[in-house]
Amino acid sequence: MSLLDPAIWSGKAFIGGWTAVSGGTASVVEPATGSVLEHVGIASPDDVAVAAERTAQAQIAWARLPYTERAAVLRRAGDLFGRHADEIQGWLIREAGSIPGKAAFETVTAAQECYEAAALASRPVGELLPSAEPRLSLVRRVPAGVVGVIAPFNVPLILGIRSVAPALALGNAVILKPDVRTAVSGGVAIQRVFEEAGLPEGVLSLLPGGAETGAALVVEPRVRVISFTGSTAAGRKVGAAAAEHLKRAHLELGGNSALIVLPDADLDLAVSTAAWGSFFHQGQVCMTTGRHLVHRSIAGEYVARLAEKADHLPVGDPALEEVALGPIIDAGQRDKIHGLVRASVDGGARLAAGGTYEELFYRPTVLADVTDSSPAYAEEVFGPVAPVRAFDDLDEAVALATASPYGLALGILTADVMRGLELAERIPTGLVHVNDQTVNDEAVAPFGGFGASGTGVRFGGGANVEAFTETRWITARGSQARYPF
Ligand code: NAD
Repeated sequence: MSLLDPAIWSGKAFIGGWTAVSGGTASVVEPATGSVLEHVGIASPDDVAVAAERTAQAQIAWARLPYTERAAVLRRAGDLFGRHADEIQGWLIREAGSIPGKAAFETVTAAQECYEAAALASRPVGELLPSAEPRLSLVRRVPAGVVGVIAPFNVPLILGIRSVAPALALGNAVILKPDVRTAVSGGVAIQRVFEEAGLPEGVLSLLPGGAETGAALVVEPRVRVISFTGSTAAGRKVGAAAAEHLKRAHLELGGNSALIVLPDADLDLAVSTAAWGSFFHQGQVCMTTGRHLVHRSIAGEYVARLAEKADHLPVGDPALEEVALGPIIDAGQRDKIHGLVRASVDGGARLAAGGTYEELFYRPTVLADVTDSSPAYAEEVFGPVAPVRAFDDLDEAVALATASPYGLALGILTADVMRGLELAERIPTGLVHVNDQTVNDEAVAPFGGFGASGTGVRFGGGANVEAFTETRWITARGSQARYPF
């Protein structure tokens, strides 16, 4: 039997075992063809309550296990992501519309997230404090309890596992709610891996569903921390509900990241880098390069070469042919992309490449002569669109790059690395890459954005300890304390 044999999970969710749930089922649709690949169970708010009870019970024993046993489960999960990579990648290609290279990046990173998390389980859990009293005073990190993880469709495996793995390693139990459009690669795959890795039943629950399921998870009293990755609009609602219910929410939200190209950059490499930044996974990445800021002396040549590259990139079904871009996730997203492109052109931007589609296959698009009022430049497109804008000097580049409510990633291309680093100092973003484009991620690196890109809380490496534990102050005296009355 394969890891993802639908006989195990078809039409079900996971609450202490694979089970039918009261929200019914949803079709898993292949965006490239429109075919129904399978069905997943949809969790209702009632199912969320049942899962929370089961998960909260399981958390107590899981947190008490020796760290060596928790680490061993995480290491086995990492091995399983490697052993079953081909099968999981097959789902990432067909269900999420990923090209094979992107699918492979997801499984490799998923394994790495598990290995890094395994190392977290044995990190020191506190510190010894000085005290004005004759007593031992220490601070200890304790698991938060049940962590709710809500993830989007675009990079479904990484965006789920990057919270699930460290939260489990630190002694929490987890309820995972993937986007219903990618509930297999972003949910079933993670659940099955941990099942096979020997995670005790109940410690991880899987509740596929939409916004209603997510909202129920956020207000569920037994869920103490929410890790949310998704749009800024939904993130605001999640943050507000979490505040109302007095719980922590880590919000990783949208972006409109700038790539600044200085006049001394190698133009051939710059155009290739820029195309990757805007067109990787059809531009459906939070860190996608959404604004190309190019020195005026090279901007015309840059647009011409980027447009030529875009015109030659193959777009099609990644399960059948070797393509650079696969399909957009669904018609709603495609129409949103097209609407932003059309409104920009109607407002005076020049379409240098693309701007057309067939079914869900959107041509990589280059827009020149964009201004602040071009919607495809000013807003997050979440599609394969590269708006290019010229600047005259570094002050103008800083002003343009900074004039966005978002602050996720920044790329700077220049032959003068120190000048690139100095420029980066002036533009507030959570991630910055000199001589690279904006889409980068590693399990060991802290990840997060400023402003409308989120609450600035970082996942990755040691930042996970802060995200998924509480601190507890503990004192002990050799004999009982004495008071004046
Ligand atoms: P979305 O916000 O619509 O959905 C994301 C997830 O949240 C889904 O699982 C969805 O079911 C759930 N959800 C939606 N409304 C909810 C609510 N009110 N309460 C609880 N859960 C709710 O996001 P999308 O548009 O499908 O995904 C793309 C967005 O995600 C883009 O804006 C992108 O930039 C962002 N994103 C951010 C990061 C990051 O790390 N910063 C990574 C990937 C994607």
